[in-house]
Amino acid sequence: MVQSHESRLTSWVDVESTSDFPIQNLPYGVFKKSDGFTAVGVAIGDMVLNLAEVHEAGLFSKTCLAKENVFARDGLNDFMACGRTAWKEARRRITELLSLDCGTIRDDKALRERALLHMADVEMQLPVAIGDFTDFYSSKEHATNVGIMFRGKENALMPNWLHLPVGYHGRSSTIFVSGQDIRRPLGQTKADEADAPTFGPSRLLDFELEMGFFLGTGNKPGERINTKQARENIFGMVLLNDWSARDIQKWEYVPLGPFLGKSFATSISPWVVTLDALESFRTSSPPQEPKVLPYLEGDGQDAYAINLEAFIKSEKMDEPMRITATNFRHLYWSMFQQLAHHTVNGTAMRAGDLCGSGTISGPTEESRGSMLEICWKGTKPLTLTDGSERKFFADGDTVIIKGWCQGDGYRVGFGEVRATILPAEQVDL
Ligand code: CA
Repeated sequence: MVQSHESRLTSWVDVESTSDFPIQNLPYGVFKKSDGFTAVGVAIGDMVLNLAEVHEAGLFSKTCLAKENVFARDGLNDFMACGRTAWKEARRRITELLSLDCGTIRDDKALRERALLHMADVEMQLPVAIGDFTDFYSSKEHATNVGIMFRGKENALMPNWLHLPVGYHGRSSTIFVSGQDIRRPLGQTKADEADAPTFGPSRLLDFELEMGFFLGTGNKPGERINTKQARENIFGMVLLNDWSARDIQKWEYVPLGPFLGKSFATSISPWVVTLDALESFRTSSPPQEPKVLPYLEGDGQDAYAINLEAFIKSEKMDEPMRITATNFRHLYWSMFQQLAHHTVNGTAMRAGDLCGSGTISGPTEESRGSMLEICWKGTKPLTLTDGSERKFFADGDTVIIKGWCQGDGYRVGFGEVRATILPAEQVDL
């Protein structure tokens, strides 16, 4: 559980108790200043610590990070590839420099002004040059809900589901950072009663509340990463919205799985929260029955208690309305099992690869992670605070996902992933 020395840590940078980014967190991201300068930074309260500048000032000189300024980059990949020893050292040193009693940056006005930027003055970029993207399907509640809707209660889970973390290879070229709008996709769909498919804008645009993890270090082709080693290879986590066009998906997915109904857009939050920052919130995993094969066995403490919420805001609404609240700890398959399974056939993973958890639904109606489930295949429409109804999303809707761990007097949070839906491209149909 939460250790007391963690809750006692404070920074000379002002941080509200409800902030997602206290000194206990220190997530990494890539920021861009108005003059175009781009580098790796760490979030602290409402500020960003410019790590390229901290390195330039020689403040990593006595560490394993001294040699090359891996923070003077437009992605985290080079820092990630340094490995866990370097990540731990960076975290230790940044914690030290931001601690209440450390004057190194605090008392050096010129350095402080160069190194500490207001979050409002910078634009966050995609944090990582993302190589491969894999999306899993690891929430038993989500898989069961979808299974009931499409196959009935008796056959809700496919025969393989309890034996392996099901996943598919996604598309990294259309992963967007929070704040970038997404366009309603065009595609081929076929109504149940229609004889032939038609082409046009998706009518059933949905979100999937997910989290993603980034590989910090990978493996060579032919090598495997076991569940224990996986903790060392995973760098950190982000919030992830796996946008889904349900009508395109429904018509195309047999027999090879999701394709164009998913690949048009995925949104992620800009700050990567490290596994080291999340360590205090590691907790017992859901029991797995039947027993998994030995290569998938974990130590039973592989879940993380991360509160997750999703909101919708239509063009007419002033304030977002919460549509679900769930928790990452409900996931049946852990990240470590996902990574062990992913590499069990010798697949190589690389620094900067991203894996999605799959929609994270909880055990109650209020904790469902997609509109498909919240509105139960369109049979239970949602009434928004502007009086309008939704079964899926309309153009102009903004979808926001937030996530945080609650410590003793502080939060380790992820900020948010937010995107607004733009109308489909106008084409002659
Ligand atoms: Ca998904």
